[in-house]
Amino acid sequence: MVKSNPVLGIIGGGQLGAMLATAAKKLKIKTIVLSEDEKAPAKKFCDEIIISKYDKLKSIDNFVSKVDVVTFEFENIPFKVLKYISKIKPVFPKPSINQIVQNRFTEKNFINDIGIKTTNYALVKNQSDILNNEDLLPGLLKTCTLGYDGKGQFVLNNKKDASELAIQFNKEYILEKKVDLKKEISIVITRFLNNDFVIYEPIENLHVDQMLHKAKIPADIEKIISEKAQQQAKLIAEKLDYIGTMCVEYFIDKKNNLFVNEIAPRVHNSGHLTINTHNSSQFENHIRAVCNLEKVELKKIYNAEMINIIGEEIKTYREKLYSKNEFFFDYLKSEIKEKRKMGHLTIIKPQT
Ligand code: ADP
Ligand code: MG
Repeated sequence: MVKSNPVLGIIGGGQLGAMLATAAKKLKIKTIVLSEDEKAPAKKFCDEIIISKYDKLKSIDNFVSKVDVVTFEFENIPFKVLKYISKIKPVFPKPSINQIVQNRFTEKNFINDIGIKTTNYALVKNQSDILNNEDLLPGLLKTCTLGYDGKGQFVLNNKKDASELAIQFNKEYILEKKVDLKKEISIVITRFLNNDFVIYEPIENLHVDQMLHKAKIPADIEKIISEKAQQQAKLIAEKLDYIGTMCVEYFIDKKNNLFVNEIAPRVHNSGHLTINTHNSSQFENHIRAVCNLEKVELKKIYNAEMINIIGEEIKTYREKLYSKNEFFFDYLKSEIKEKRKMGHLTIIKPQT
């Protein structure tokens, strides 16, 4: 059980860690961030930061001794580290969830096992596994572990691509049939300790080069799809016995079929607009859930569109003047890198 008014440990000091720490501060919850990066963006927003590699036991022990409950901003923390911490202090969401979701193959097996559809897929260990799964082409070949923002992905249009692309078979891949996309949406949901939920309406997402470019509410989709996606997200959260905020990404194909793409066991980029559109953001809900605070009923105040600011684009955004319906978030990253998320802009609109 989490004690009242706990000190919250957050593993990961990127922009998500920073926004979690900001939300915690609003709720008067003290935060201690564990980060590998001494210039981590969360440094300026949390109460204390511990800089260490995630597998350095001595620093982990120090971090754990200072906090009452632990959460994380990204899913790729080594499972054995989370497991170790969870023996000493509560970790939400629980580490076994990460074990399922860290691997695209076990993640998709889990989703299908609970009766929810994904695109067809197969585990790939070598070139012949691709050639033997010709029905999955055109498809996307993704590393089973450690990919994000389209990193570690190959588009395979035909068998020829499979032999011509420089794919290194020193790790496992998943080959997914390419979906003839009409739209992509996501559902952000927060589950509390007593099986209570708050769930946002679907967010419509536009990706460019496999990376989120824009997100908006309301999503321009049929009500029946919207309801089905929300039901599926609830079922996933329940089956995982999830505590905290998570996000389910979906594909809608041209025939209006709904497929789950992936589960993010954390706050999500598409949910950043909730900071401005709702009475309680995805970050605040996460803090409330993992710290066992009171749940607040969600109220939508505005519609909105969010634009991700990537790499050098941040320079122009830093110079701009903004009107009162525009909210610019600068992640204050120490270095500008190509394809790196540097900030975002949310433009709120009245509800129609
Ligand atoms: P990441 O973990 O990098 O977010 P995703 O699997 O979500 O990886 O892929 C990123 C984006 O690439 C998706 O949001 C979608 O736009 C595109 N994409 C990925 N897989 C498929 C697929 N099977 N069919 C069509 N588009 C896909
Ligand atoms: Mg994704």
